[in-house]
Order: sequence, then structure tokens, then C-alpha cells
Amino acid sequence: MKGFLKGIWHPVIDMSKCRNCGFCYEFCPKGVFVKSNAGVEVKNHSECVDGCHGCEWKCPSNAISFPEPITREYVVKVVRWSKDKGRAYPDAFVNYAIKNNIITEEDLKDEALGKS
Ligand code: SF4
Ligand code: SF4
Repeated sequence: MKGFLKGIWHPVIDMSKCRNCGFCYEFCPKGVFVKSNAGVEVKNHSECVDGCHGCEWKCPSNAISFPEPITREYVVKVVRWSKDKGRAYPDAFVNYAIKNNIITEEDLKDEALGKS
């Protein structure tokens, strides 16, 4: 499912570790980073490639990490995708999300999620 984490999967820079070398900016082929006098920052989050860690591995300061992708937004995306494909959504996954307070049972009753 290429692009399934679009806008969800992206690097985060720990500015307390970043020494502004620009390696991440130079390395990323997708233009996710911008560089200015103020330093390097993540700007084009949606351009990041699902599961890519390239810039993290290039960073000499261990300043780049990736947020936990299993967010409420991600769970909603999985449920909607399943619904759109006419498939049952993966119960084990959704139950995991409920158990870990990522999403609530009430959220799943939300009409916007399309659960009937
Ligand atoms: S993870 Fe890959 S695509 Fe995403 S910003 Fe880093 S190098 Fe670019
Ligand atoms: S590679 Fe690491 S240290 Fe260099 S600018 Fe990017 S985040 Fe900062």
C-alpha cells in the first residue's frame, strides 16, 4: 500500500541534537526538508516515503526520528480504506488501538468512519 502513511510517516528533527550540517536536506530525494539561515526543517511532510529511514541513517547527530505511525489518524485511514474496499477492517489491529487509547469505541461509532 504505497503512500498509505502519506502525511503520517515523516522525519522529526530533535533540534537540541541537530548541528545544522544539512546532510538530511542534501540526501532526501523527495524535498521533504528545507534549509534556510534558521537551519534545516521538515516542511513537506507528505512527500516522505512510507517506511524510508534514509535521512535518519545519514544524520551524524542521531537527531532524526519518526513518530509512531499508529496514530488515531492512521487507524481512521485503515478503517476507511477497508470500508471503501468493501472489506471488514482488521479487528485485531483496531482492538490494539482501542486498548492503547489510540482510538475509542465511540470514535468507531462516528458516522464519518462509516461503521454500520
Ligand atoms: S525518510 Fe526518506 S523520503 Fe523521508 S525525508 Fe528522509 S530521506 Fe526523505
Ligand atoms: S543531518 Fe541531522 S544534524 Fe544534519 S541538519 Fe539534518 S538533522 Fe541536523
